[in-house]
This record gives sequence, structure tokens and C-alpha cells, in this order.
Amino acid sequence: MRTDETPGTAIAKEHKLKGIGVSPGIAIGLAYIGDRGELPVSESRIDEAQIEHERARFAEAVSTSIKQLRKLKTRAMALPGSAADEIGSVLDAHLAMLANSRLIRGVNRRIGRSRINAERAIQLELDEIGETFSAMEDDYLAARIDDIRVVGARLIRNLLKKPYVAYSSLSGGAIILAEEVTPADTALMDPRRIGGFATEYGGREGHTAIMARALGLPAVLGIPGLLDHARAEAPVIVDGTEGAIILDPAPETVRSYKARQQEVARERRLLNRLRRLPAVTRDGVEIELHANVELPVEVEQALANGAVGLGLVRTEFLYMNREDLPGEDEQYSFFAALVSGMEGRPVTLRTFDIGGDKLPEALAGYAASDIANPALGLRAIRLSLRDRRLLDVQLAAMLRAAARGPVRIMLPMVSTVSEVRRAREAMEQVSRRLRRRGVRIPDELPPLGAMVEVPAAALAADALAAEADFFAIGTNDLVQYTLAVDRSDETVADLYNPLHPAVLRLIQFAVEAAARRDIPISICGEIAGDPRYAALLLGLGLRQLSMSPRNIPRVKQRIPDPEQVAVLLDDFNATVWATIGVG
Ligand code: PEP
Ligand code: MG
Repeated sequence: MRTDETPGTAIAKEHKLKGIGVSPGIAIGLAYIGDRGELPVSESRIDEAQIEHERARFAEAVSTSIKQLRKLKTRAMALPGSAADEIGSVLDAHLAMLANSRLIRGVNRRIGRSRINAERAIQLELDEIGETFSAMEDDYLAARIDDIRVVGARLIRNLLKKPYVAYSSLSGGAIILAEEVTPADTALMDPRRIGGFATEYGGREGHTAIMARALGLPAVLGIPGLLDHARAEAPVIVDGTEGAIILDPAPETVRSYKARQQEVARERRLLNRLRRLPAVTRDGVEIELHANVELPVEVEQALANGAVGLGLVRTEFLYMNREDLPGEDEQYSFFAALVSGMEGRPVTLRTFDIGGDKLPEALAGYAASDIANPALGLRAIRLSLRDRRLLDVQLAAMLRAAARGPVRIMLPMVSTVSEVRRAREAMEQVSRRLRRRGVRIPDELPPLGAMVEVPAAALAADALAAEADFFAIGTNDLVQYTLAVDRSDETVADLYNPLHPAVLRLIQFAVEAAARRDIPISICGEIAGDPRYAALLLGLGLRQLSMSPRNIPRVKQRIPDPEQVAVLLDDFNATVWATIGVG
């Protein structure tokens, strides 16, 4: 019952629920309770004579689904900025899952073998695929099973002839609360008319989350029991920054969130102004802020946020979520798009960092199924060098892209000098082969650099600096390997400390070795995008920082003056001495 007559304020007792904030920002509006995801399905037996009829029903549902997805794609293409590309690529992935995929083959087989209706066959096939995926313990792949489930749910809906609820008809800044919001649903959301959304299911890595960010819609996913508490048309606040939603907020809560909304808008305006300014310390030292990217569409974000280059392109994403390997031409198109998109700014392409327990299906033959320490196994440059065909394809594509603009080639997880030497030999051989074929590549081969992300590389940085043309410090792994703390194990997350003196000492070794050999050095681990550490990293001698595009303005704002750096370094030294028990 309403306790307050003012629309948009308290109506019942305020209720705060926590989830995963996947897209930052604050939205305040009235709740629209979304569709409850998958429909219930019962099993019915069919006899042999009905098998073909059931398969034909299934084929019809597949073809209806394809038509629906194509229509959605046409609509998605009209969305603003990178949202069109993001959503378009997910819809393409869904369309591919409706071609001759494991799901489609499996359902047809099951209808014949188990003699059951198509709806139930889809459900059982999804469960089996889900088990295979969950055994992989990989967030990225786990998010892909969500996509397969969404496609399965669409097929079931079409078999049962139950249409989707269209979010496109919503308006007035409605907040969608649903069990699940699919990427295709997101294609129907117009940020000018929808405030934000919150769901019971979904994680940070999924495509729904990626798209919410691309559309700039505040979103919180993974809120257990959301729909048990939510009421249609009741006021609700989505706090995508904190990862919380407030149902039936009290008037003072609404007031304080409105104030925060204005603060966020003001901060964004201020940061926008910084985009075009150079990053320079008060004593005139220029700091280069680069972007880390995985997808070509992120180039737009990198430029919009003022990146002066791409400091890390994680090429392993090209190998994920598919059954075959990306060939030279496909990789070339991807790299060339990045290089052209950056309009003359430098692009650092990293050869793939895959291996251990995260092998894509097409590379599964390279790993034992039960390795005890996958992070210490056949990963990254080790895998590339184990099978030169893998490395050569990437190098050829990168060299061809280098003809279109400044490219640097970077090797991940280097632990010995010989890895750089062998990679350089490979690059030279591949370049000779390309030239013989008359393929255009630059006269001067691109710089070949090493990531410093294994303690051995940092400790032997002098020797490595004699072979590598540049260094890039990867603190995400450097912390993991130095402190013996698995970066993805939440049970030891409290020990994962990028500020541990041992880590900072290794960074210092690498910086000094690079300076002695006069080679460029950058840092591209997550620490580089954290504004709190900007002064410390500059104090340690770093001048090139590479980070997720959205962090660039925040870090730029914190480029300090020299006195601040001096104070920070004093603090740092005091901490080092205190930690090791001296002073
Ligand atoms: C790192 O290890 O810091 C790094 C940048 O590489 P990735 O996160 O891809 O392992
Ligand atoms: Mg790494």
C-alpha cells in the first residue's frame, strides 16, 4: 500500500538488494517486470513414424528464429555508436548457432534416438552442452553457454508459439527487472526511453553486460531473488556503479541518489574536457596513456577517451568461442581494422596468450586434460613456439597489418632470452616468405617486444633488454607469479597485492634495465588503469601506461606534480622497510 502520495518516492519499506554492477551509472524510475525467461517444457514420447514430423517442426522453429534474429539485427544496426557493432556481433553468433551447430545436430539426433518431442530434446541438449562448458571453469566460456541457452529458449518459444515481450514499447525511463535479459532483448532497448535494468542471472563477462556498457545503460546483474521482492510500477533505483538496486526507496534515498546522479554527470563533463588535453606533469614530463583492447569496436572508445595508442591488443579473443582456428586473412582483417582505426597512432599487437587449461577447442590437442599447474604450463609464447605454424600465422597477419600504420609486436609470458630470439627468427623468416610472395609489408620490420610478467623476466631484465626492442610490464601475471597467488582464485584474493614490495622491486628492475639499454617500457596490467597508483608508477619511472579505455580520463586527472611523487616515494620506501622489518 502507498504510504506517500508523491510519485517516484516511497511506497513501501525500502529494500536494498546487492548484485554485480556491470555497467556504471544511476537510474531512477518505475519498475517494469520483464518476462520470466525460459518457458516450462514437458516431455512427450513420439513413435517412429512421427520422428520426421517432429524434426520438421524443429526445422520450422529454427527458420522462424533465423528470421527473427535477422530482423533484430536490422534494428540493432540503427543503434548509436559501438552498440550497433556489439549487438550485431552477438546476433551473428546466435545466427551461427542456428546453422549446423552442435545444438542443432544434437537436437535432431535426440529426437530420433530418444523419440521425444523437440522442446524436450532442446532442453536435454542444452543441459549436456552446459555440463561440458562448466567443466572448463572459464568465465569467458561460461558466458558463451548463456548465449547458447538464449538461442535454445528462443527455439522453444517458437515451437510453443509464445512470442517475446517487446522492450521497445517501454518509455519514460522505465527500469526493467527480469529473471534474465538476453543480448537480443538488449537490442530492443532504447537508452533514451529505458533507464536501466537489473536481473537475477548473468555475470560480468556476458554479452548482455558488454552491451549494457556499450549503450551506457546502468545495469546490475546476478541479484538472487530479485523478482520475489519486485513489484510492477513501483519506484526503483539501479546503482550500476555499486552493484545494488533499491526497491521502494524512501524520499531521502531518492534525493541522495538524484544528487549522486548529478555528481556523476558533472564528473563526466569534467572528464570529457580532459580528453583532448595532453597528459603532462607539472614539471613538463609527458605521460603517454594508451588503451588495452580486445575487439575492433573498442577503437572508437579508445579514441573517444583520448588514447594516444593501443598499448595491448589481446589477440587470444580471436580464438575463443569457435571450433576452428582463425587463419592469416581473418587475423589480418582484424589487425588492419585496428591499425586503420587508430589513424597513425601506434598499435601493440600481442601474440596470443592462451594455453594451460584455457585452450580453445581447436587447440585442445596441445594440453593434457588434468594439468596440476596450468598457469605454469604450455601457455602464451611457449605454445606459439611449440608449433611454429601457430606463431607464423599470427606474425604474417601482423606484418601485413604493419604496412597500414605503426605496429609493434609483443610476446606474452616471456621467461627466457631464447624465446625472444626464436620469435625474432620466426618474424624474419615469415617476412622473407611474404616478400617473396609479393605481399606488402613495411621495409623495416616492427619492433619486437617482451612482456615482463614472470619474475624471471624482471630479474633478468638486463639480458632481456639486449634482445627485446621494448618492454611491457604485465602486473596481472607478475603479481600472480611473484606472490604465488592465483589471480582467479577468490579464496586467496586478499593476498593478491600489486603493491607488495616484492612486486614493486621487480617493476623497478625492469624500468632500470630498460633505461640502461634505452628501450621503451610501458605497463599494461590493471594497476596502470587505477588512478590511485598513477603517482607511484610515475615515481617508479614509467611514462607509458596502458589501460581499459574508460580509465584513461580518470588516470589523466591524477597525473601528479613532482612533489606529490616525491612524498609518495618516501611513503613507499617507508612501507618497504617496515614490511621487511627494517626501520
Ligand atoms: C598482465 O598479465 O598484466 C597482462 C596485461 O596480461 P593479461 O591480463 O592478458 O594476462
Ligand atoms: Mg598476462
